Amino acid sequence: MTTSDDPVPGGRPGDRRRVAALTAGLAARGVRGIVLAYVDTAGVGRVKTIPTDRLEAAVTRGVGMSPVFDTFLAGDSVVRTDVLGSPDGDLRLYPDLDGLVTLAGQPGWAWAPVDRITQEGGRHPGCSRTFLRRVVRDAAARHGLSFKAAIEIEWAVGLGSAPAGEFVPAVSGPAYGAIRQVELSDCAADLLAACAAQGVDVDQLHPEYAPGQFEISVGALDPVAAADRSVLVRQTVRAVAARHGLRVSFAPAVGAEGVGNGGHLHLSCWRDGVNLHAGGEGRYGLTAEAESFAAGVLAHLPALTAVTAPSPASYLRLRPSQWAGVFTAWGHETREAALRMVTGTAGRHEQDANMEVKPVDLAANPYLALGCVIAAGLDGLAAARPLPEEITGDPARYGPDEAAALGVRRLPRSLPEAVEAFRADRVLRSALGPVLADAVSAVRLGEAAAVEGLDPAQVAAAYRWTY
Ligand code: GLU
Ligand code: MG
Repeated sequence: MTTSDDPVPGGRPGDRRRVAALTAGLAARGVRGIVLAYVDTAGVGRVKTIPTDRLEAAVTRGVGMSPVFDTFLAGDSVVRTDVLGSPDGDLRLYPDLDGLVTLAGQPGWAWAPVDRITQEGGRHPGCSRTFLRRVVRDAAARHGLSFKAAIEIEWAVGLGSAPAGEFVPAVSGPAYGAIRQVELSDCAADLLAACAAQGVDVDQLHPEYAPGQFEISVGALDPVAAADRSVLVRQTVRAVAARHGLRVSFAPAVGAEGVGNGGHLHLSCWRDGVNLHAGGEGRYGLTAEAESFAAGVLAHLPALTAVTAPSPASYLRLRPSQWAGVFTAWGHETREAALRMVTGTAGRHEQDANMEVKPVDLAANPYLALGCVIAAGLDGLAAARPLPEEITGDPARYGPDEAAALGVRRLPRSLPEAVEAFRADRVLRSALGPVLADAVSAVRLGEAAAVEGLDPAQVAAAYRWTY
């Protein structure tokens, strides 16, 4: 469980007491530096690092970083909103000691997620991690709810020796094939060892569909910790691969054609230790609240795509019949519906039932994605929104009339289309607050403008090594 406290100058409650022992432990393990990690609005992981003996200073006073990254594009140019994108000002990065981990794949380094607050100690409205914590805290206060979340991670593994910018799969063999597992054997074993050493419980690691593609799924945690974990696992996958001369891409589309890299998000709502997605009177054991929560997510999905599929490359992935879930529909274990209801296996329904949101990729800032999906679900729950009829099979087969009768809509086909839906969505905008909401719109439109005139292959190439 991650802290529910925002950082304050002087440190979060108890930080000062913990930090000396933590620093001594890190030093004893040969840790020389700490990576302070956050994700910007465009979904790019950004870092600063400090020597290990500066941890106390960082925890009590923070580490400076310009707020300009709130409106950085993936290609490192800057757009502006009314309040963001200026070269003026400074923010403080405060590491969260609950998330501090010694990096097994990067000897000599530890890692911690950060929140960003102002120099005077006030909340920074552009901080996505603080935003998600607030959404979770509000859900507890208003609805007595908590959540369990996990983000699946898919990536393509390429040869580090490939010509600059190009992707050459590091493994051969068919999708889900035994050949690939053998060819990546040493690297994959090191990855499992690193995850175990870092306290990440891995459910599965397997070769996926696209050339060189693999997937790892990890245990569920509270939303802030789940988002942290998604960032940490990607850092680990990349670092372990680099030690084997390999290069990884989490980009939504490594090439213009074929199956992309997803970042499916699993989420369940809980009250007083009881999973609302099991043991209820609704379909597949859902409670009425879980049905309405799912209905809320479905209703807001077109707008949510601006947050969950934030890159021009996201729309190369978001195509029908690729298991990316591009229709506003739900189904029981249906892999072409945007919402897949997962009921868990016999004897495990109460623990494991959850819903999987599929039109999410790893260009998405996981804090924004989780916070917005939860806000959408809570809107449905508060309104007791009815969950439509389920679908089976691939909605791509429906003609326009059938789709309309079932309320099945195609999700946005481009980033500008997603931004249009997002701008019209008062629920998401008000959950994010004006500063973050404007940053999302501005960054997405900036990203769309940056690829104007490029063909799909050029778009894929532009983002291939960014995420
Ligand atoms: N690679 C698919 C995607 O783009 C997902 C495949 C799966 O269901 O694991 O989301
Ligand atoms: Mg997969």
